[in-house]
Amino acid sequence: MTKLDNKDYFSEIGNKIIGIIGYGNQGKSQALNLRDSGLNVIVGNVNDNYAKDAEKDGFKVYDIPEAVKKSDIIFLLIPDEIQKNIYKNHIEPNIKIGATLVFASGYNYFYGFIRPRSDITVLMIAPRMIGWGVRDVYVNDQGFPSLVAVGQDPNNNGYSILMTLCDRLGMFRKGGCAVLSSFKEETLVDLLSEHSWVGVMLYSFRAYYDVATELGASPASVILELYASGELAEIAKSMRDMGLFNQLKTHSRTSQYGQLTRGPLYITDEFKKTLKNEAINILNGTFAREWNDEENNGYIVYNRLHEMAKEHPMETEERKLYKILGR
Ligand code: NDP
Repeated sequence: MTKLDNKDYFSEIGNKIIGIIGYGNQGKSQALNLRDSGLNVIVGNVNDNYAKDAEKDGFKVYDIPEAVKKSDIIFLLIPDEIQKNIYKNHIEPNIKIGATLVFASGYNYFYGFIRPRSDITVLMIAPRMIGWGVRDVYVNDQGFPSLVAVGQDPNNNGYSILMTLCDRLGMFRKGGCAVLSSFKEETLVDLLSEHSWVGVMLYSFRAYYDVATELGASPASVILELYASGELAEIAKSMRDMGLFNQLKTHSRTSQYGQLTRGPLYITDEFKKTLKNEAINILNGTFAREWNDEENNGYIVYNRLHEMAKEHPMETEERKLYKILGR
């Protein structure tokens, strides 16, 4: 875990032009934070609503190739799955010699989908926070945690630039930190969450719904119990603030006893084996290749899985309940 040392490296980047490519979730927040911290920020975006939003916020907006030509430090803040093509067609031909390229995830660099020229400094600043949160904490004088890394360092100043950018993003204020990581580690922990507990949560909720309604529970009571009441979000907040098991004290003793005795029953050797297999599939690129094929084939499986998810009776019941709740 690292925090900015006592040196101020601002002189290294204070007069540089920072190009934020993509004015979406992360792009907007990071652009505003960096500008408010005194850096010279421009935006590169296709001319549409995101570009208009950036103009409204007072940024000079250029198309992506033009923004890249003007920038010394480029933040690539567009969705991971389109970065490869945008990089190849619009960034690689225009990027300045000796420029710095900053990723917000490890994915494309770790798998080699993007291979910047050897003169480019490659950094990663991957916030462990959703986009609007990165701005929200900044305006409230708070920091946010991130995984950070230096990938390629031709001028031996990658770490200083990284730390300065983290500082100017507001990361090191109270509640924030930079965890010195790697593109590999960020890819593993990020994807493994999505492929394990996040996915398991969706499908275990469905299984719970099937069982509870079969035994006579009303769909509304089940959906409220599982997520619609907001209790789940409160538990997540308590975990963040108090720790995973320490937050148990905010539950009744009956609840705690139930969680501690019944929870482990589901974590079988088979579950752990599956988890490990999926981790290996992430590290050896099996998942990334599968997802690449899926993109090349026009998202056939992806769209079908979404359609199948909507066919479950819980979807209709959820819509009815959300209408009553005014959502
Ligand atoms: P968004 O989905 O919010 O990106 C939207 C931006 O991408 C818009 O400016 C949009 O412009 C542009 N974009 C979308 N499609 C294209 C295209 N085909 N060509 C050119 N531009 C396009 O991205 P996020 O902010 O969610 O993610 C950016 C990076 O941040 C990713 O690497 C992600 O992994 C990382 N990250 C995201 C987090 C999050 O909470 N979302 C958290 C931590 C890291 P337009 O549609 O106008 O073209």
